[in-house]
Amino acid sequence: MKKFKKILIANRGEIAVRIIRTCREMGLIPVAVYSEVDSQALHVRLAEEAYPLGEAAPAASYLNIEKIITIAKKCQAEAIHPGYGFLAENHHFVRRCEEEGIIFIGPPSGPMELLGLKTISRQKMKEAGVPIIPGTLEPIKNEKELIEQAEAIGFPLLLKASAGGGGKGLRLVRQKEELLSAFRLAASEAQASFGDPSVYLEKYIDEPHHIEIQILVDNYGQAVYLGERECSMQRRYQKILEETPSPFIDDNIRRRMGEIAVAAARSIGYRNAGTVEFIVDKNKNFYFLEVNARLQVEHPITEMVTGIDLVRAQIEIAQGNPLPFTQEQIKPQGHAIECRIMAEDPFQNFLPSPGKILYLHRPGGPGIRDDSGIVEGYVVPIEYDALLSKLIAWGRTRDEAILRLRRALREYQIYGIKTTIPFFLRILDHPDFLAGNYNTHFLERLEKEPLVATDEDLVAVIAAAVKAYHDLKKETSAVWPTKSHPWKLMGRIELLRSRL
Ligand code: ADP
Ligand code: ADP
Ligand code: MG
Repeated sequence: MKKFKKILIANRGEIAVRIIRTCREMGLIPVAVYSEVDSQALHVRLAEEAYPLGEAAPAASYLNIEKIITIAKKCQAEAIHPGYGFLAENHHFVRRCEEEGIIFIGPPSGPMELLGLKTISRQKMKEAGVPIIPGTLEPIKNEKELIEQAEAIGFPLLLKASAGGGGKGLRLVRQKEELLSAFRLAASEAQASFGDPSVYLEKYIDEPHHIEIQILVDNYGQAVYLGERECSMQRRYQKILEETPSPFIDDNIRRRMGEIAVAAARSIGYRNAGTVEFIVDKNKNFYFLEVNARLQVEHPITEMVTGIDLVRAQIEIAQGNPLPFTQEQIKPQGHAIECRIMAEDPFQNFLPSPGKILYLHRPGGPGIRDDSGIVEGYVVPIEYDALLSKLIAWGRTRDEAILRLRRALREYQIYGIKTTIPFFLRILDHPDFLAGNYNTHFLERLEKEPLVATDEDLVAVIAAAVKAYHDLKKETSAVWPTKSHPWKLMGRIELLRSRL
């Protein structure tokens, strides 16, 4: 068993900070890398050592395999943690680490390569007896085949880039007339985004849920699942809020999904932490979607309910430790919800909002965790993902987690740039969300609901403000009239304020 001393973190932002924290707790030396726009970033300030990668463009910096390998060797890091995004699922990078004798904290290059193409992973999963979404197992070769296969599968269907990821490279085709033009567009987009024009077909599952299973596999093939994450709150196929447990499934399905996820991982020699994503239809049939061969953005909600530090588990597995717990010992407690706070303007169609953070106040208190990568004075660059922070609430029940999350979102103050905080207040106030009754179509529908407050809303807000003012003047403790939902009110005030 190899004990690491130093780990290079080939990433930036909140996830680099997250990994640095666990390194510190384990007595490991965290090494940061940074591009020229990130020299003042939080991850650089917190790391023991930090090395420049040069220009901001991802290809020159965080995606530059040889630069990162050279730094790792020079500073004598035994291992590299890739975080998520960037090089995290790049099998060429994993292979370069293997060649140089640097431990890549993640699966080996073989399974990584296989999982990089959705068509290949679908084939492997089918062989392993995992239910897959009806569709093709090979990329579409020509337009004749496209029409034949589409008619066999039936509409609506999804055209998917084999090499796709991050919610990109998916195209919904509702009827036959749209098929040919959609195919041509999808292929050229896939070429431009992923350097590979291959696309394939999947039946479009109606009113679907995205539910995924966190797994851990050690180097000896022992594997466990750590419950599920409900990730149906999506905008343009990208997750924005996640929760566990899922309000949609029961213990029986949960266990079956967990067992299938573990079997799927074992069948391809998977190692380390990973996530098996499933689509669940309205009748609760579940189908394999893909494996994310890395730590995921939404991993903290699993940590909150299981008490397991997934980054520590990843590092220990990479060191060669056997899994320290059995399936029976994993007993999730309570409920956790995460909001992805982005530097985007929810009132301007989620336009990116980079810039300087002039004032920052972060929430705290019972059950709140804020995995953030920002500090006051930091300039959020335009070059990278707009994720600023992940605000996570834990509660004994789902209701308690929601109350805490709302309270913490209200405390959060980020001035200088626009953020998605008001949008989350709106979601957290919606009767369907409160009832746990939503699928991947929820946000599309929410965005069609009128955003502008009605006259009644305005009157209610003004009346409540007047009452709050009088209560304050009377110096009573009852600042918030208990009957009129204070959070609802604050959500509306936030909406009105941002419209001014
Ligand atoms: P998660 O389920 O962890 O949110 P995502 O698929 O949304 O996973 O991806 C997480 C991060 O990785 C995002 O920053 C996303 O943009 C990036 N990413 C994932 N796959 C790719 C890919 N194939 N190409 C480019 N970026 C990707
Ligand atoms: P990515 O690699 O970009 O994450 P996925 O294959 O995981 O792509 O799909 C992203 C999202 O697209 C899913 O979470 C789901 O909301 C939607 N989706 C994907 N496949 C289907 C399908 N066959 N039917 C309905 N929705 C789908
Ligand atoms: Mg996915």
